[in-house]
Amino acid sequence: MLEFEEALAEVLRHASAVAKPAPEREPVALKNTLGRVLAEPVQTERDQPPFARSTRDGYAVRSGDISEGQPLRIIGMVRAGEMWRGSQVGNCETVEIMTGAPVPTGADAVLMVEHAEIGTDGLLRVRGERTLQAGENVVPQGAEAHAGAEVLPAGRRVTAAEIAMAASCGRASLNLFKRPVVEIVATGDELVEVGTKPEPWQIYNSNGYALAAMAQSEGAEASRQGTAPDVLDELRERLAAARDADLLLLSGGVSMGKYDLVERALVDLHAEFFFTGAWIQPGKPIVFGRIAKGKASAWTYFFGLPGNPVSTEVCFRLFVTPMLRALGGQTEIAPRFVEALLAEDVRGETRVTRFLPSVLQGNWKQVSVRVVPWHGSGDLAANARANGFVVLPNGVERFSAGESVRVLLR
Ligand code: AMP
Ligand code: MG
Repeated sequence: MLEFEEALAEVLRHASAVAKPAPEREPVALKNTLGRVLAEPVQTERDQPPFARSTRDGYAVRSGDISEGQPLRIIGMVRAGEMWRGSQVGNCETVEIMTGAPVPTGADAVLMVEHAEIGTDGLLRVRGERTLQAGENVVPQGAEAHAGAEVLPAGRRVTAAEIAMAASCGRASLNLFKRPVVEIVATGDELVEVGTKPEPWQIYNSNGYALAAMAQSEGAEASRQGTAPDVLDELRERLAAARDADLLLLSGGVSMGKYDLVERALVDLHAEFFFTGAWIQPGKPIVFGRIAKGKASAWTYFFGLPGNPVSTEVCFRLFVTPMLRALGGQTEIAPRFVEALLAEDVRGETRVTRFLPSVLQGNWKQVSVRVVPWHGSGDLAANARANGFVVLPNGVERFSAGESVRVLLR
């Protein structure tokens, strides 16, 4: 049994040491890269921006010319999508310019249209006592990135920001890592699959679906192996068959009950255990370790997740996520927490760190978090009302309304 911090550190230690996955054989079309992981850095072939860019609609000027009452002669106009081909901007001259247009040579700043006035004489004057700094409202060529610079590192998960960056470099496709393959085995004699009719004493296998969904949303390929009964021989066979995956996720059967046989099956397969429990609630019986793959010298990591559905989700988000990210080639793997103010008093626990289903709400000024009333870690209805899990560190008897706490987001 490890403390929460120790268990997380242990997972992160192993995750940081796993080998990078193989890259995909072919580059993947940019539009299909969302949620995947870059196998190679992206470089920009040209300066970003490729020309000194005006960030305003206004007038390209020599900044020193801007002073109250000083008239400037307008020698033309340049808009986005074209280049000024007239003479360079001279003393007390200006070129009307639009946002996104290249700043003509000679000019070193852009006076905003809102700050300019055209007289009946057709000359431009600044409104009021304003002055202009050199460089104002202009992004110099190459200021964001120089040609040849790395703009995205290998190991980065692709979100809209990475897609935008790659597109701005003209990349039609990207080199990605292969997705890790996750095998999911839900154990329990009481389980039936959706689509079949349960007896009154049976329940549907919801964890298999939840784990597949969470694995997919982390960029993995999930393979659901259906349910396995609480029978040692069968469990052993099922685990042995699933152990060529990159990660093995087992649900149920890791507690102290007579029919909790997953750990025994793993022992029979000569598993190495890194921990067999963490002082967290829900999720205390969680098991983490590895078994040798069919081939020598390769390992398959596994998690034995407690069967209660909220425990399953909490354990996934805390421990499985970092391992899965690492197996997918990501470099940023630790779970992320946000800070919020407790909406109501909550009772803590002396021994366990709690991760309670909760609703994070608020606006840009203040974010508060409210624990969802629940009937314990089997309460999927309460879990479905939550959008995260508030963290209540162990050893604190009472957390008070208004206190700052951490929240693990979905
Ligand atoms: P266990 O971890 O096997 O002791 O199971 C703890 C609780 O979780 C029991 O009430 C099980 O019925 C329930 N449970 C186990 N596996 C699943 C599953 N795949 N889907 C939904 N509930 C489950
Ligand atoms: Mg069970």
